[in-house]
Amino acid sequence: MTDLDLLIAGGTVVTPTGRRRLHVGVRDGAVVHLGPEAPSAARTVDAGGLLVLPGGVDTHVHLMDPGSPEREDFPTGTSAAAASGVTTIIEHSHGTPVRTVADLRDKTAYLRDRSNVDFGLAAHAWPGGSGEVAPLWAAGVSFFKVFTCTTHGVPGHDAARLHQHLTASAQAGAVSLLHCEDESLTEAAETLLRATGRSDGSVLPDWRSREAELVAAAVAGLLVRRTGARATVAHVSHPEVADYLMRERSRGAALHAEGCPQYFLLREEEALEQGALRKFTPPARARTDEDEAEMWRLLRAGVLTHMSSDHAPSTLEQKRAGDIWNVHFGLPGLDSTMSLLLDAAARGFLSYEDVVRVYSEVPARIYGLWPRKGALAVGADADILLVDPGDPRTLRSTDVLSKAGWTPFDGRQIRGRVVQTFLRGTLVAESGRPLDERTGRFVARAVGATG
Ligand SMILES: [Zn+2]
Repeated sequence: MTDLDLLIAGGTVVTPTGRRRLHVGVRDGAVVHLGPEAPSAARTVDAGGLLVLPGGVDTHVHLMDPGSPEREDFPTGTSAAAASGVTTIIEHSHGTPVRTVADLRDKTAYLRDRSNVDFGLAAHAWPGGSGEVAPLWAAGVSFFKVFTCTTHGVPGHDAARLHQHLTASAQAGAVSLLHCEDESLTEAAETLLRATGRSDGSVLPDWRSREAELVAAAVAGLLVRRTGARATVAHVSHPEVADYLMRERSRGAALHAEGCPQYFLLREEEALEQGALRKFTPPARARTDEDEAEMWRLLRAGVLTHMSSDHAPSTLEQKRAGDIWNVHFGLPGLDSTMSLLLDAAARGFLSYEDVVRVYSEVPARIYGLWPRKGALAVGADADILLVDPGDPRTLRSTDVLSKAGWTPFDGRQIRGRVVQTFLRGTLVAESGRPLDERTGRFVARAVGATG
């Protein structure tokens, strides 16, 4: 074997099925050696005492670039990603949706030299626009984002329009990410709540109710099964939704259920005190420690299939610029999601193998990026994290690299730190500091991938 560019020596390599002390050899950006021997390399990194994980794959990210750079842009958002241990994102922004192949080409060209991690791009499904599904899918979009309710200015799909989109998607072999809240229920609730004159955070759980999410998820799950399409239900907020989706899966639906940390770690009641800083939808539902433990159990069991951040940042000023009805939905999350998963492993709610499964392998598989992404294996891209699993620290808003500049997890004491992040064998972040090399590349979905 000719010399390696990089050897990561003596660490404990974690895969979804186990962990072993192995040396990892990298050449030309790819993993070419994984074994007990240590071949010579131009550069050797001592990973003794550290875990070696594949880079995180966060498939639900909004970086508002182009569109609303005052909220986030690709350089800042992907700095946060690299520093936190995420080496691949799939991005879509509601303000500047990709609706045609020309939009995809323009956005890909615009983002050249703007990303610190590798990225795929998703398209937006538009009611009545199912004719765009096949060409966009052939052009390499990672998935289609579909709303069941009009949100962030994107029109919702009723059952008929959703059926039309999923039928076209099944024919094309395309995968969709479904935002599930029933429009008639959220609208009726809003009318009632506004009539009472309420405009504080306490409206959130009533406005964006559990029933609204359940009804939309049940309809979506049924239509996914009946059309034979493939889809993920986005940001599943509570166990009853996950349970409904599991039932459709057991009947043959090709359905995935996405979790996000805010549904495991933030409480419903926080909306009362925090108002717009807890305005995301669906909102947090957990009320007790048992509710949180149940979400982790569902994730361990694969009922919730994978994790994402749903990174949708606004600055504190932007969050305070209006009342609860008109400030932006969304939370920053790219800075914290990997940290919170590593902490869940340190606390025993997950194994490190689970972390690799839910935040690397499964999302990469669903969206056609595996095994190039989401795997630490010979032939995969050398997207690698060195993790100190025991290191105690406190999450701080002042450390946030996203333009949001804050985190809902400020003050939370956690264990586990990503010490180094490698993207295709190049160091892109160290000890929470991104190197901002802008070496991230567009990664099209693998042709013919079916997840
Ligand atoms: Zn989202």
